[in-house]
Amino acid sequence: MVGNAEDISPSMQIDLDAIDEAIGSRSWLLRFPDALEATFERDTGRQRCRELIVRAYIGIVIYDLFAIADWWATPSLFWTALWVRVAFFTPVALTLVAVLYTTPRAVIRESIICLGGGAVAVGTVIYLMAVSGPALQGTLHESMTLLVLFMTVVQRTRFFYLVPTCLGFLAAHIWAVAHFYHYTPGQQVAINMVFGATVIFALVASYTMERDLRLHYLFSLRGRAQNRELDRMSRRDALTGLGNRRSLEETLAACEQAIAAAGELAIVLLDIDHFKLFNDNSGHQAGDLCLKRVAGILQAELRGQADHAFRFGGEEFIIVLQKTPLTKAVRIAERMRQAIEHAAIPHPALGADAVVTASFGAACSQPGHVLNIAEIIASADAALYAAKRNGRNQVWPRPLSANSAEIIPMADRTSQKG
Ligand code: GH3
Ligand code: MG
Ligand code: MG
Repeated sequence: MVGNAEDISPSMQIDLDAIDEAIGSRSWLLRFPDALEATFERDTGRQRCRELIVRAYIGIVIYDLFAIADWWATPSLFWTALWVRVAFFTPVALTLVAVLYTTPRAVIRESIICLGGGAVAVGTVIYLMAVSGPALQGTLHESMTLLVLFMTVVQRTRFFYLVPTCLGFLAAHIWAVAHFYHYTPGQQVAINMVFGATVIFALVASYTMERDLRLHYLFSLRGRAQNRELDRMSRRDALTGLGNRRSLEETLAACEQAIAAAGELAIVLLDIDHFKLFNDNSGHQAGDLCLKRVAGILQAELRGQADHAFRFGGEEFIIVLQKTPLTKAVRIAERMRQAIEHAAIPHPALGADAVVTASFGAACSQPGHVLNIAEIIASADAALYAAKRNGRNQVWPRPLSANSAEIIPMADRTSQKG
């Protein structure tokens, strides 16, 4: 099977216009149009999960290391705290991390962080502070600030998941400060305002980071799309849009392997008849238009991924047909010949009713008669020459009829006239 030089990854199916539109709109919603969002997730989701897992492990270890502080600050509660950290928080957090290994959808992935880093961590911190009493009352505030930092900067939780999580933190903070410690109302307002400001700064930072991340992704996507487009253009003939010589060389190189694997490979060469006269009579621009139309006709007659059409040079084209025996290649060539003739492109230099036609030569490598690419092309060229010599507007070897599975044998060729 010949590799297709234009195989593209899913991310490249997003066209440049859609990317430019997304860059231009700078949507404040932190969400791309659906197709682009899906591509973004496909491109970044796996990597994000990997990063989240590593950072979650770091978070869990640090959380558990606070047992050292428990030992020194509240030795009477050490075993309770250790139990909460090691026997409750850690297994719950590890279970959530295990889900991340499955690369879940964005909604599950981000919810897991909010649940693990948010609900479970904050819940246990508040519980530990509550049972430890006023001795550690400043620590609650600092621990929750630390968790906001972890969620925002370390895990970079997506903004729209972070908003409810942080608001939950703030509510829990206000509630815990009012219930477990001996702050005056004035002190409560002050400490809650400090935490509230932390939350607001964190959300602003989260929004900015996610917007920049998305913009950066769009620019990198555009860079890749542009490179791919340049690569595609470097393999296209600028006038006709068919593959150019470079693309032909690549396809033929891949075909060489297919032939080695004993596959049938056919090559059809075609050349527009009396094209110099057409140019001289109708002008070069009309000649260019004619070449484009013929290329379009050839393209339309291809059978799909296995067939390739290239501009060979000037007004000559080459069709590469994989896994195709000679009789079939001749039938395809005959169909193409008829399609060009039926397109009825006027050829005024040949007469009032004359139309543009082309001559075709086909050759094939078969399992029992293996030729290399150069030999197949030389053989197709010889057949094309015979088609020209015998009157043009015909396919060589000659098909018995347009739909015939047979071709006129080699020995009879030169006696045939178009
Ligand atoms: P034949 O039937 O034997 O093929 O005769 P012909 O006149 O087609 O062959 P010839 O090779 O003498 O002429 C080919 C012409 O194709 C000459 C050139 O002006 C024209 N040609 C080649 N490339 C281009 C192109 O890119 N644009 C245009 N308009 N003409 C081209
Ligand atoms: Mg020519
Ligand atoms: Mg010609």
